[in-house]
Amino acid sequence: VEQGVIAVEMNRRVHSVGRGGLPNSSGQVELDAAWMEGSQLRAGGVAALRDFLPAVSVARKVMEKTPHVLLVGEGAEGFARQQGFRSQRLLTKESIRLWREWKRNQAPPGASGSGHDTVGVIGWHKGHAIVACSTSGLPWKLPGRVGDSPIIGAGLYADDQAGAAVATGIGEEILRFSVTSRVVEAMRRGASAQNACEGVIRFMIRRKPETTKAMVAVLAVRKDGQCGVAATCRGFSAYVRKDKHITELGS
Ligand code: ASP
Repeated sequence: VEQGVIAVEMNRRVHSVGRGGLPNSSGQVELDAAWMEGSQLRAGGVAALRDFLPAVSVARKVMEKTPHVLLVGEGAEGFARQQGFRSQRLLTKESIRLWREWKRNQAPPGASGSGHDTVGVIGWHKGHAIVACSTSGLPWKLPGRVGDSPIIGAGLYADDQAGAAVATGIGEEILRFSVTSRVVEAMRRGASAQNACEGVIRFMIRRKPETTKAMVAVLAVRKDGQCGVAATCRGFSAYVRKDKHITELGS
């Protein structure tokens, strides 16, 4: 799970996660990431983390080495340094170019319907779930803005007794609805993974019809290994790997 997330964080051509991720309105990349284990509900996260990679590994260390669940900003950076992570440059030539272009156009901060994404991975092995995610958040966001990804129950959730889920899309909408917590609770009540994901997306649209304009997607695995995925719009890709076989779950 960790290596899957790291591979995307390190890929400078991915403009929504880790190195190469698009910066905030002041030109700084701020990462959100988290890690959760379904056996004891242990979890760790970092938010608005600058200059350190892999963010998912810092999040995992928050779980392993501290009594806390979430560290933010300078506190998260100090912790990463103390844990032996080396500070590095997350901006690339291309991300600086895109930021300058945005600045020239004078669009308001956070006003971006696209260019954002999250890598989310759920691992399920012998009855135990691990879920992790990482993102640079919405491009041109206000400095200090935190999305759903590092928030347990919003961007990710895992409980071996029910299942695990991870979300992507406009973090504000995902936070408002505690999306992954709802999906996992629906599976606990007996819903299939697919029905749980669809049910929550439908509920969001019923309760707040503007949600259809926001991209939100959720992916889940139930405790019996069954998978599901649902989204407010097209264009979201999800894959399942069982042993050596990879299949696309839908887009
Ligand atoms: N959920 C991320 C955020 O709002 C962005 C995304 O997944 O598209 O920070």
